[in-house]
Amino acid sequence: MTGTGNLDAAPYALGRRADFPLLAANPRLHYLDSAATSQKPASVLRAIQHYYETTNANPHRGAYTLSAAATEAYHGARARIATFLGVADADTLLFTRGTTEALNLVATAWGRTNVKAGDRIVVTRLEHHANFVPWQKLAQATGAEFVIAELNTDGTIDMNALESLVTPRTKVLAFGHVSNALGTVNPVADLVAIAKRVGALAVCDGAQGAPHLDVSVDSLGVDAYAFSGHKMLGPMGIGGLVMRRELLEAMPPYQYGGDMIAHVGDQHTTYNVLPYKFEAGTPNVEGPIGLAAACDYLTALGMDRVIRHERALVSLAMERLSAIPGVTVLGPGADRRSGVVSFTLEGVHPHDLSQMLDADGVCVRAGHHCAQPLMRALGVHATTRASFYLYNDVADVDALAASVNTARLRFAGA
Ligand code: PMP
Repeated sequence: MTGTGNLDAAPYALGRRADFPLLAANPRLHYLDSAATSQKPASVLRAIQHYYETTNANPHRGAYTLSAAATEAYHGARARIATFLGVADADTLLFTRGTTEALNLVATAWGRTNVKAGDRIVVTRLEHHANFVPWQKLAQATGAEFVIAELNTDGTIDMNALESLVTPRTKVLAFGHVSNALGTVNPVADLVAIAKRVGALAVCDGAQGAPHLDVSVDSLGVDAYAFSGHKMLGPMGIGGLVMRRELLEAMPPYQYGGDMIAHVGDQHTTYNVLPYKFEAGTPNVEGPIGLAAACDYLTALGMDRVIRHERALVSLAMERLSAIPGVTVLGPGADRRSGVVSFTLEGVHPHDLSQMLDADGVCVRAGHHCAQPLMRALGVHATTRASFYLYNDVADVDALAASVNTARLRFAGA
C-alpha cells in the first residue's frame, strides 16, 4: 500500500467495503462521489426488506394490528433518527423527500407568511441551488431584497462582510453546514449568533453536514435544519426538516390532504398536530426505516471516527493531487473542510477528465455541482470533485491520483 505516510492506522482502518454489497461486488471500483449519494450498507437493505416482509400496511389509517405495527415502525424510525441528529422533540422532525423539499417547505410555508416587501433575505455564495433558488424566488414573490454574502479567496465565508449585510430588516439568513462543492465547513454558531442579533430565521442546509459531522441540531441553535437520507447511507426519497416547534405550530401547512387534518368542514379545515400537519398523504415508510438503520450503522462506528477518517483521506488526497503539475485544488485547508476535494486540471475539461477516470474505475463528479453562483465567483464553469466517506481508503486516493496523472500525461502528449 502506498501513500500512508500521514495516516495513522486508526482512521485508515475504518474502511468497511465488506458491509456495502455494491462495493463488495466491485472490488476495483473507487467510489468517490458520496457527496452526490452514498452507498448503502447491507443492514439498511435488510431493514427495508424486513419491513415489507413483516410489517407493511398503510400507517395511521387502520384499526387492525398490522397497520398499527406499520405506524409504530414509522414513528419508531423517526425517534431513532431524531436521537441520532440530537433532536429532543422528535415530532419537530418532519419527513420530506430530502433537503430540497425541506428547504422549499421553509421558504414557502414560513416564508410566504413571514416575509414582506422591504425585508431582506441573506444567503451565502457557497450555497447549493436548493438553498439559493427557493430564497431568490421568495424574494421575487414578496418584494423582499435578496442579498448574497461573498467569500474569502479560500472559499470560506467572509464573516465581516456577512455580518454587515445582516441588518435589522433581515428576516432570513440561509447557509449550508458544509459546502458540497468545496467541502468548506461553515461556522454555524457564529452564523446563528449573527442571525439572532436581528431576529432573523437561521436556516441551515445540512445535506453535507448530517452525513459527515457529529451533528446535534438542538445544540446548533438553528431555527431550521434540512437533511437528505441518501447521503448518509440511507435510501433515496427520504430526508427531513427539523424546525423549532413554535415556528411549525404558527406557520401554515405546506401541502393539504389526508392525515394532516383535524377536521374538514364544508368551508373550513383545521389541522392535525405535529408532525402530521406537515406530512400530507400516505408517507414513505420504508425510507425512515432504512434511514434509521443507517443512523444505527453510523452510531456504531462513531461519528468522531468517521470525521477523523475522512479528514485523513482528504488531506492525503489534497497533498497527492497538488503535487501533480497543472492541478489546482480549490477551497480551504483540510482543517476547514469535510470529505470533499474539488480541483481543476489545466487544459482538461472536468467532463473529459471524469470520463478518463471512469475508465480506471474511479467515480468522481464533474460539473457545477448545483452551485453556479459559486462557480462564477471562482471563475470556472466546472470542477472535478472527489468526495470521500467511511468506506473509502488509501487505495482510493492512490487510484485517483494515479488516474489524474495518467490523464495529464495523455493530454500533454495529445
Ligand atoms: N444541499 C447540498 C449542500 C447538497 O449537497 C445537496 C445534494 N447535492 C442538496 C442540498 C440537495 O439534496 P437533495 O437532492 O437530496 O434534495
